[in-house]
Amino acid sequence: MSEHSHLMDENVVQSQINFKYKTKLNGISEPYEFYCFTCNQPRISRIEYTYSKATFIWCCILCFCTIILGLLPFCMQKCSSKTHYCPVCDKIVGHTDGELC
Ligand SMILES: [Zn+2]
Repeated sequence: MSEHSHLMDENVVQSQINFKYKTKLNGISEPYEFYCFTCNQPRISRIEYTYSKATFIWCCILCFCTIILGLLPFCMQKCSSKTHYCPVCDKIVGHTDGELC
C-alpha cells in the first residue's frame, strides 16, 4: 500500500526484535544470541579474547606462584577482555572487560 504503512510495519517488527533478542552484548562473557542489524538475522555471537600486557604478566605471576600450569588457560580467559562479533558480517556487537583474578 502506501510507504507510510510499510514504515509502521517495520517499526513493529523492530520492537518485537528488541524484545526477543539482545542487540548489544556488553557485559556478557559467553557466546550469546543477538539480533544483527547488518545481516537482519538473529545470530550467536563469536567471541574474541583480547589479552592486555598487564593480564599476561599477572597470569604469569599467578602461574609461577601456584605452579599449576593447567590454571593458566582458564586464568587467561577469565582476565581477558571479550569482544562479541557477528559470525557472518564481523560487526562488533558487544564488549566485556576482563576481571582481575
Ligand atoms: Zn551480522
